[in-house]
Amino acid sequence: MTQAANKKPVNAPAVGNFIRAVIESDLRTGKYATRRWGGRPGPVSVHESAPADPARIRTRFPPEPNGYLHIGHAKSICLNFGLAAAYGGLCHLRFDDTNPEKEEQEYVDSIIASVKWLGFGWESAGESNLYFASDYFDFMYQAAETLIATGRAYVDEQTAEQMRANRGTLTEAGRDSPYRNRSAEESLRRFREMRDGRHAEGSMVLRAKIDMASPNINLRDPAIYRIRKATHHRTGDKWCIYPMYTYAHPIEDALECITHSVCTLEFEDQRPFYDWLLERLAETSVLPDGRAAATRLQRPLPQQIEFARLNLTYVVLSKRKLIQLVEEKHVDGWDDPRMPTLVGARRRGYTPEGFRLFSERIGVSKADSWIDYSVLEDCMREHLNEVAPRRIAVLDPVKLIVENYPEGGGEECFAPNHPQKPEWGKRAVPFSREMWIEREDFMETPSKGYFRLYPGNRVRLRYGFVVECTGCDKDSGGNVVAVRCKYFPDSKSGTAGADSYKVKGNIHWVSARHACATEVRVYDRLFRVPHPGAGDTDYLRDLNLDAKKVITAQLEPALREARPEERFQFERHGYFVADLADSRPGAPVFNRAVTLRDSWVKHGS
Ligand code: ATP
Ligand code: MG
Repeated sequence: MTQAANKKPVNAPAVGNFIRAVIESDLRTGKYATRRWGGRPGPVSVHESAPADPARIRTRFPPEPNGYLHIGHAKSICLNFGLAAAYGGLCHLRFDDTNPEKEEQEYVDSIIASVKWLGFGWESAGESNLYFASDYFDFMYQAAETLIATGRAYVDEQTAEQMRANRGTLTEAGRDSPYRNRSAEESLRRFREMRDGRHAEGSMVLRAKIDMASPNINLRDPAIYRIRKATHHRTGDKWCIYPMYTYAHPIEDALECITHSVCTLEFEDQRPFYDWLLERLAETSVLPDGRAAATRLQRPLPQQIEFARLNLTYVVLSKRKLIQLVEEKHVDGWDDPRMPTLVGARRRGYTPEGFRLFSERIGVSKADSWIDYSVLEDCMREHLNEVAPRRIAVLDPVKLIVENYPEGGGEECFAPNHPQKPEWGKRAVPFSREMWIEREDFMETPSKGYFRLYPGNRVRLRYGFVVECTGCDKDSGGNVVAVRCKYFPDSKSGTAGADSYKVKGNIHWVSARHACATEVRVYDRLFRVPHPGAGDTDYLRDLNLDAKKVITAQLEPALREARPEERFQFERHGYFVADLADSRPGAPVFNRAVTLRDSWVKHGS
């Protein structure tokens, strides 16, 4: 396959984008050059006497361990780790595990494996830079006490309904809670009671005291701590109050000395709170009672930068929907090759390099848009074309009998492992009297423009001989069970006289005696339509029920030894991978990753 001129090749340098522009400007002005790094996350006390941070920038990828990563996450991973690598920085992997109910170790393990699989690491100079937000719970709690002590937070005992009613609307200011002006001492006492488990879930929350009349509703005294009597997958039952995400996230960034905190657009309205919170903590070095504040944060503070999330046609990327697909068994599990999860994509035969190319090519922007699924497939094809050796597979086999070839005889033909890479050499493929060919490569009565096998016509058996079709055998139902032909012994590819045979058709084949009959799963897109569930319909009705076809194919013998995850181009068919889970030594099972060309035809919707 040739590269279209307007497409960047696999190893092209990164293109500019607005996030890069911000980072480059910050590096020019030395905005973050004064930061110090004490070797571990922490407030200013951990860093102030340490040397300058050797990482010029720090970014982070902050998944919540409540599901498997999907293709949207891949964009965020490639972006954050890619920026760090491009500017002499570091990217942390941080589990944002502040939500006790939905999080599990299983997800933590799978996320770590997927980020590694994409080719990224977080270790540097003996520091692992793998962090858990839950490790900061003590600090977050202390920071909340600092806010209370300095009059920046209060315990609100309104009911949820009262709070909602008093929040106001886009056009109407909110109303102060009757608890808003209680003393710091009283809030502190209540907050400690909350921590000690003395109050019921939902009976009170800790709120930041900002401005109930702010035009930005997120600044109308947002809740920052709530009571949840739940067991956390890492801290167990130590806590029965948990920080809200919008409170926890900026603190996590600041403790880790993150410089550029890249997130998706829905957090844009949260940025003022992000900045407000970190400013309050950075400016507070002494508490009203004269004690030093242990929660002071190092300046300069991290900055939040938003970009548009990836929206991809023909898939769903919402965790809720992915969970439903698995739980209702519309697919065979999280790593079903049809799933848009990274574990699924990996089994499907998609490659890390393909994802990185995709992420580069779609770029980042400030405006939501849709990327067509074919862009992802193109990226996979481009990389697979580079790295996948060619092999021969007959997916819909019918016998071809070479009548004038000796029974029991055989010889070797030689097929290149990659047409554009002669240095990859050739391999022997056995030729014999009985072959498997594709059923569609024979027509008893040819249609117009059909150049393959039909009685009287000649084709080349690719890398082998020219044959002339002499007819076919049928069963009692009229189905073709074997095609017959004779071969021309002086027409063998690569021998002196071969070129004197001019034929229009060129078909692939495998010797029946040597072939390896193998399970092949022919995968297609999981949904029939670009926007599953559009117009408030049930997205499950848009499932493509033909997205998985299991067939028994006849493969050239070399494929018998394919190792799990080894990828090939099956000539004329597409790119296939030996399945990671179901392949056995000497008995691989293959999955189709992607066809050779964009052959997707829009199904009627
Ligand atoms: P949830 O609804 O559970 O929050 P989520 O998809 O946001 O789902 P997270 O684990 O919070 O899951 O995501 C980790 C990171 O990946 C976040 O920084 C988020 O912005 C980013 N991310 C998630 N989905 C996409 C997407 N479609 N495109 C780009 N980035 C994404
Ligand atoms: Mg999220």
